[in-house]
Amino acid sequence: MKREDRAGILIEELKALYPKAECRLKYEGVPEKLVVATILSAQTTDAAVNKITPALWERYPTILDLSLADRPHVEKILKTIGLFRNKTGFIIKAAGFMAENGVPDTIRELVKIPGVGRKTANVIMGEVFGKPSITVDTHVKRLSSRLGLSDNISPDKIELDLKKIIPEDQQTMFSHRLVAHGRQICTARKPLCKVCSLKHICSYRKQKGSPAR
Ligand code: SF4
Repeated sequence: MKREDRAGILIEELKALYPKAECRLKYEGVPEKLVVATILSAQTTDAAVNKITPALWERYPTILDLSLADRPHVEKILKTIGLFRNKTGFIIKAAGFMAENGVPDTIRELVKIPGVGRKTANVIMGEVFGKPSITVDTHVKRLSSRLGLSDNISPDKIELDLKKIIPEDQQTMFSHRLVAHGRQICTARKPLCKVCSLKHICSYRKQKGSPAR
């Protein structure tokens, strides 16, 4: 089956399975806060980020406040999440950038924000600006391979592969839905293939001969 055809089937099946999939990071509708939350979410669950951001925004209500923050104070708030020291540096610098320049609406400009790579930039493009975006996080990377949508390993190349076969108006929701399926069914260590609605089209299952769970 051609990849485009496979993608077309998956778009419809995932839409039926996860009609309301969405970005799980909380940001109170403030784009700058979503940038900060997304930087914090690297190698950390969204739930862990959502637990600490209320304290961060209570202590530093505006992005300008955060840009002027004392590093040790911010580290104390972030200490329960992975890489908190590096992330502290990035979010203070990112806040400084955004206090001066706002949140740009192109990937090319977004990646100039300290700590922002293509993944974060795509989250912002889709969530804040409603533009087509494919966010390749760990779930999208894993499922793109298992479902036969990309042979690449690099997130940037996977993003390009998906953009070729997913229509623009479906891209943002398609990546949200892949994340939802990755969290609930197609987990990294023990994918629940027996109960998975996508098993009829899944390359991984055929290669592995129907994993036990
Ligand atoms: S059949 Fe298994 S590997 Fe394939 S998408 Fe479903 S859970 Fe993932």
